[in-house]
Amino acid sequence: MSIIRNALATGLLLSSVAHAADVIVKMPNLNMKSLNLAGFTVKEALVPSLGIYLISDSNKSVTASLAAAEKLGADGVMENSKMQLRSRATPNDASWSQQWGPQKIGAAAAWDIGTGGNNTDGDDIVVAVVDNGTDLNHEDLKANIWVNAGEIAGDGKDNDGNGYIDDVNGWNGYNSNGTIPAGMHGTHVSGIVGAEGNNGKHVAGVNWDVKIMPVAASSGDTAVVLRGYNYVLEQKKAWLASGGKKGANVVATNSSFGVDGAKCSEAQYKVWNDVYEAMGQAGILSAAATANQAWDIDATGDVPTSCESNYIISVTNTTKEDKIYRQAGWGKTHVDLGAPGTDVFSTVPGNQARNLTGTSMATPHVAGAVAFLHSVASPAFTALSKAQPAKAAAELKKIMLSTVEPVADLKGKTVSGGRLNLEKAAQQISRY
Ligand code: CA
Ligand code: CA
Repeated sequence: MSIIRNALATGLLLSSVAHAADVIVKMPNLNMKSLNLAGFTVKEALVPSLGIYLISDSNKSVTASLAAAEKLGADGVMENSKMQLRSRATPNDASWSQQWGPQKIGAAAAWDIGTGGNNTDGDDIVVAVVDNGTDLNHEDLKANIWVNAGEIAGDGKDNDGNGYIDDVNGWNGYNSNGTIPAGMHGTHVSGIVGAEGNNGKHVAGVNWDVKIMPVAASSGDTAVVLRGYNYVLEQKKAWLASGGKKGANVVATNSSFGVDGAKCSEAQYKVWNDVYEAMGQAGILSAAATANQAWDIDATGDVPTSCESNYIISVTNTTKEDKIYRQAGWGKTHVDLGAPGTDVFSTVPGNQARNLTGTSMATPHVAGAVAFLHSVASPAFTALSKAQPAKAAAELKKIMLSTVEPVADLKGKTVSGGRLNLEKAAQQISRY
């Protein structure tokens, strides 16, 4: 019996005075006379040593001014355009000030590099949220829910021929159908991964823009869990085999559930590990929540976080003070890193948002980070993710664990000894 793992139930505009016909020219040998004849006045020498001047003609539009300046033989002409300050731009989401989690992991700085969305090849980046369902109509999530373009809702047919009937947004492993329940836990987790950012509403996800594939399969028996993971695996295999024409480019699963004290090497849990391995071979990293117990997981065991697959990233819950939460597991061998999981503010059904605490909330910061890193990765990494998906997944995990913020409370208690640092990981993978 697996259980869900929460312990408790704008950029500023740079003020530039915009005169309609101001243009900037680079003319190392400025000829005032010809400028005057063309109707321009020199308003300011901006970089005199390079011959860069701000000139103006109040009778011309910007376009006409640019054309006229070009005719005069300038080396370069450009509009005096407004620009955005890029210093740690904070999103305008209503509850951003309460979102200490993204702030702690350096998300605001990482968002200077990118804010989610597609990779350098323009492919969607998909996170499978394996949980108890997601509110597809939440106003802060609906723009970021994955849609199976080849499937027609409610006609009882498998329109895209992927073996699943009416799988328009994901899959329900409890009932083996495409109806996704609006689970509170899964809606909260989804918002941490990818609530729409900078839309003035609720919260900003680690990704402002991403595709969330809800897979309802986080409790019940092993068959339910396997149905859920198999859906994810098949979509990614189809995507790879078809060169992106079918399936979905799933790069991460989020598993905020598990079996306390279970040994992954025993009985039914061996097949869980087999599935993490198979997903890893398809380039999927599985972010997994460790137990909400003050236990050494290396000694007690845990599923999935004591499973041996290298494609699992196991996560514990850290507080604002970078301490392991009083009810959260650790393990020098089996728990990879910490992430914010205490009093995390995120979306819940009915266009609401609230705080929840648990390794359940820490883990989607990591699953979200995997997707984010794909979105800001260099073209070389994007190419690797297609040519050698397993290697790319392993490389991405290595980058995440080597760029953590070292934290005293996690030293000797986790593989990395630190807490997720999105900014540093983003910098590394963007130069990969
Ligand atoms: Ca289908
Ligand atoms: Ca929002």
